Amino acid sequence: MIKAVLFDLDNTLIDFINIKIKCIKDAINAMRNKGLNLSEEDAFSEIILIYTNINFEYSEVFQDFLKKVLGRIDYKLLSVAIVAYRKTRANYVKPFNNVKKTLEELRKKGLKLGIITDAPKIKAWIRIASMELEDYFDFVIAFEDTNEKKPSMLPFKKALNELKISPEQVLFVGDNPERDIKGAKQAGMKTALAKYGQFLDGEETADYELTDIKDLIKII
Ligand SMILES: [Mg+2]
Repeated sequence: MIKAVLFDLDNTLIDFINIKIKCIKDAINAMRNKGLNLSEEDAFSEIILIYTNINFEYSEVFQDFLKKVLGRIDYKLLSVAIVAYRKTRANYVKPFNNVKKTLEELRKKGLKLGIITDAPKIKAWIRIASMELEDYFDFVIAFEDTNEKKPSMLPFKKALNELKISPEQVLFVGDNPERDIKGAKQAGMKTALAKYGQFLDGEETADYELTDIKDLIKII
């Protein structure tokens, strides 16, 4: 019997990639409006390349981008990019459909709820608070809690320590087969793949596949 449900954060609870794409495009257009002489497509590929080489949380992406394409940081362009990016992020950070309703249902059933994310703690919490989900979870395990990323066993073990129940009583929900599903399976948990948020393929198969987060109610 399932007694706890643990979630990945980005692309599982929050529509992270689509919001990020919109933020980047709005930042590019703000720079183009102030004279950046580069097509939206070319600028977008350069920025994605920087994120891919470092990581998607990298916060000096526009500095690096301007250095690369102009040979220096133009602070007017940098500032309009950052302002546009933040404005869009503030308006668009929201959970997938039915996230709140589903979390409420699960809590009503008396289940423990938690998050295991590879994101840095403060960034994870700000995303959670932006979605007004901060009261739904018993705990949030972020990168600094173990200094290891999924599929490492450490974040999953840390969660089991918090819950004090056996792994087969835990259902883990995530969008990334090779990180979320693989890691949770290795830890002995039941798994559900968040198909609705998945953007990376993988070999690992889950016990359940969700086309909507509310499918969880039927499973449990
Ligand atoms: Mg994810």
